[in-house]
Amino acid sequence: MAVSVQPSTSVQKYLADSPKKILIGGEWVDANSGKVMDVTNPATNEVLTQVARADETDADRVVQAAASAFENPEWRWMSASERGHLLYKMAELVAERAADIAEAETLNVGKPIFQSEDDVETVVDCFRYYAGATRLLEGATPAVPTDFFSYTLHEPIGVCVGIVPWNFPFQITAWKVAPALAAGNTVILKPASRTPLSALMLGQIGLDAGLPPGVLNVITGPGAVVGEALASHPLVGKISLTGETSTGTKIMKIAADGIKRISLELGGKSPSVVFADADLDQAVTASLTAIYFNAGQMCAARSRILVQEEIHDQFVSEMAARAHKLRLGNPLDREVHMGPMISQSHVETVRRYVEIGVSEGATLVAGGGQPDDPSLGSGNFYLPTIFDNVRNDMCIAREEIFGPVAAIIPFKTEEEGIRLANETSYGLAATIWTSNVKRAHRVARQIRAGGVWVNTNMTLFNETPFGGYKTSGMGRELGIESLMSYTEAKHVGVFLGETVRGFKI
Ligand code: NDP
Repeated sequence: MAVSVQPSTSVQKYLADSPKKILIGGEWVDANSGKVMDVTNPATNEVLTQVARADETDADRVVQAAASAFENPEWRWMSASERGHLLYKMAELVAERAADIAEAETLNVGKPIFQSEDDVETVVDCFRYYAGATRLLEGATPAVPTDFFSYTLHEPIGVCVGIVPWNFPFQITAWKVAPALAAGNTVILKPASRTPLSALMLGQIGLDAGLPPGVLNVITGPGAVVGEALASHPLVGKISLTGETSTGTKIMKIAADGIKRISLELGGKSPSVVFADADLDQAVTASLTAIYFNAGQMCAARSRILVQEEIHDQFVSEMAARAHKLRLGNPLDREVHMGPMISQSHVETVRRYVEIGVSEGATLVAGGGQPDDPSLGSGNFYLPTIFDNVRNDMCIAREEIFGPVAAIIPFKTEEEGIRLANETSYGLAATIWTSNVKRAHRVARQIRAGGVWVNTNMTLFNETPFGGYKTSGMGRELGIESLMSYTEAKHVGVFLGETVRGFKI
């Protein structure tokens, strides 16, 4: 299948106009240095367009703008319902521009178009959800001694920085921007350098919706330069990063100096635990999706599939047979299941892990290389790959490969399945496959992960928290948990008695 990716006319125009500017204080401006960087299409490795390559001086400019926007009474004292109205307007504008955003995302990330369309749809709902949630920032009147009246307020933190990865650029952008704005903060968005387009589009949507200048800013540039400059800036109150665990460690150290609030959504090596009493057909279908969706470039990919020994052989042969049927190709083609990976260097990383798997003694039962279709030769494609007879202590079972590589690990008893599932430094997600309702809940409680799903893949809802135990991160995206994490709790205590307490002088 040829990879002649042809954007629609409107997206072609957007790319040709080349959004080479950053959004600071309500204006699209050049980076101070005037430098730009290429944005490529991973299906062809052709340059799609160029964006600004900002540096530390731009980071300072954008923080100053966001800090002064936070002090602007128009935003600072805006009522919750008005803020909700603006977020609702943003949701409507995302919905209106959904086709262009999804197409730009597919061209830039390489994910099949139906996946980008789903991402955009969830973003619309995310803005709607937090539009309503602005009015849920209710305080309390705790039962303090009767000569006091105490109440609590949830106030915005100030300038919040959202640093976003390349695998779900638009969705994760919304997960950070919508709750931060709902709580009344000002936001600086730093998209991944490989995938900045949808974040820039959201910046324009913020302007068009009528956010006051500087409330939502977008800056593009290398994370090691711009990201670190933002994270260490004294006027920044909170950093929310989604990225690699090693990047999370850096941000945590930087944030420690300024006692900044942080929320980290990091890597994973998530298990599916398939018991012998599971619906095998559904478990296989869903396990394929859970590892090959977005070419396995998912923090919550179920990359370790623990299969009870009674059904192990049948599971493996079904999984391998179906993996061979997955269609790779042009991600704009609606028949395609899997697009390219993000970059050639990432393909190289996956190739090295596959070599390690073979040398560790795991059995390669599907994939294990790039497709031989010459029409895919210029893109970053890699075949859906399955290793069987993997042990939990092997490198391919311990480290996050972040590509289309599944490791099947046999187990005997429920206790062993739980032990193997938990035997990882990560703790983001897990799926349990069983028809025994008691076992489902029993096992769900024992799994050390931020999300456990029963008889289904990960289905995220904007209403439910998402995040990790252990090295998978700290804090939660989505739900009310995320909204609250963008606030400071304030206690106001009022003395109602006659004689104030103090020194007896
Ligand atoms: P990176 O950590 O490399 O990059 C993520 C973001 O951080 C990018 O915007 C990047 O900018 C920026 N960045 C990089 N280095 C620094 C730094 N020193 N200081 C500040 N910012 C920096 O991750 P990837 O983009 O490679 O994303 C993949 C990772 O994200 C995987 O490990 C995956 O598991 C994780 N992830 C976690 C999710 C979760 O919810 N737990 C969800 C999705 C992904 P630039 O692009 O310019 O380098």
